[in-house]
Amino acid sequence: MIPVDQVLTELRKLREHDLPTHGGRTMAYVYDSGLDELDDLAARAHALASSTNGLDPTAFPSLLRMENEIVGTAARLLNGGVGQVTSGGTESCMLAVLAARGDAERPSIVLPVTAHAAFHKAAHYFGIRTIPVPVGADFRVDPADVRAAIDDDTVLVVASAPSYAHGVVDPVTDIAAIAGDRGIRCHVDACIGGWVLPYFGRLGVEFEPFDFTVPGVTSISVDLHKYAYCPKGTSVLLHASSELRRTQYFASAAWPGYTMLNSTMQSTRSGGPIAAAWAVLRHVGDEGYLELARRTLCAVRALRIGIDDLGLRVLGDPVSTLLAVTSPDVDPFALADKMRARGWYVQPQFAFQNSPTNLHLTVTAANHGNENLFLDALRESLADTAPVAVDTSILDGLDPETLTAEQFDALMGAVDMSAGMAAVNTLLEAAPAKLRERLLIEFLGRLYS
Ligand SMILES: *Cc1c(COP(=O)(O)O)cnc(C)c1O
Repeated sequence: MIPVDQVLTELRKLREHDLPTHGGRTMAYVYDSGLDELDDLAARAHALASSTNGLDPTAFPSLLRMENEIVGTAARLLNGGVGQVTSGGTESCMLAVLAARGDAERPSIVLPVTAHAAFHKAAHYFGIRTIPVPVGADFRVDPADVRAAIDDDTVLVVASAPSYAHGVVDPVTDIAAIAGDRGIRCHVDACIGGWVLPYFGRLGVEFEPFDFTVPGVTSISVDLHKYAYCPKGTSVLLHASSELRRTQYFASAAWPGYTMLNSTMQSTRSGGPIAAAWAVLRHVGDEGYLELARRTLCAVRALRIGIDDLGLRVLGDPVSTLLAVTSPDVDPFALADKMRARGWYVQPQFAFQNSPTNLHLTVTAANHGNENLFLDALRESLADTAPVAVDTSILDGLDPETLTAEQFDALMGAVDMSAGMAAVNTLLEAAPAKLRERLLIEFLGRLYS
């Protein structure tokens, strides 16, 4: 056997090439509280429970107890609901769609175009038609457009609190009322905002109400692995009542083994993430989250002012912790590369309908105190960003239906990635959505080979 120390050394070496997960320099994918003790606490709690199995809550009552306590905390924060801990936001959103579908024949869901792609994934997995509704200049959907989009087969209407791309909250009250009038469910996707906006509210920030106090809201998703600063692999899906939740559950007696009885998509379910989340929630507590929210709010305000001062534009009027930054004068993709070279990861977002090419920033508590470091890097990067010229005509004639491995190889060979990702992003943005999806799936296949 290979000695334990050597294996861990190898792992540390592999990790050297990853983006930094701490310090606020990676402004997507990771959420840093800035609290030093949290990682160690979570890791130890995870280790204490990682070999248990949530498959049977009667066999491991500790998991049942911890899950109920986590859900209870989420329900207090969002003023109601019964629920489950899931593996992440996508699973929570997909289960909300599944529960709404029940055994409907030709179901559709109505969603603003700014809703998370998890709902398109749900539709793809569960055979559901999506009815996307364009958003206004403020990147919020107009309730009248939602009303008009609902058809006889609609089982669910979605609103975001806030949307990932722009950080704005949809008019949840009106949307939920419209859904309620039609006897349709309304899911509020608060995956990224659910654990921070209630605290922002206590700090005086004003935004559209989105929790269970709003009549017509039937389910809410909130991720623990975002602003609850828990390790990856935990989210909560709340339903307004256990009746509404029933169609999320699955039982099968159609085989000779144990009767399979699942609350979520997983069957065998590690107790590790649940225990880690429980421990983090217990340690930080309500006052701790309020303080983390205060730091995050300071950071997001300072960054927004600094970004404006540099002549860049923040899209919409975000009320949360997310900023979408653009400018008609700079190539956002090239700017992202320059920031990356200075040790900051900002996430390119492609132009979509009325949303121009922009850079997404997820601001966390760890950004507080080093706002100026970011703004300095942004100023320097702006000064040396030049547009990247890409011949997008190499996309001509490529058909997502018939794309061959040879065509993909030729395309890969033609893009210059030496200076960063700008050329790839420019090309991908120029590709129609279907072709872009196809190219990325082809790329994924190459990565995993
Ligand atoms: C992050 C996010 C999701 C998906 O969550 P994952 O944990 O990445 O699966 C869904 N909706 C919104 C608004 C999000 O920000």
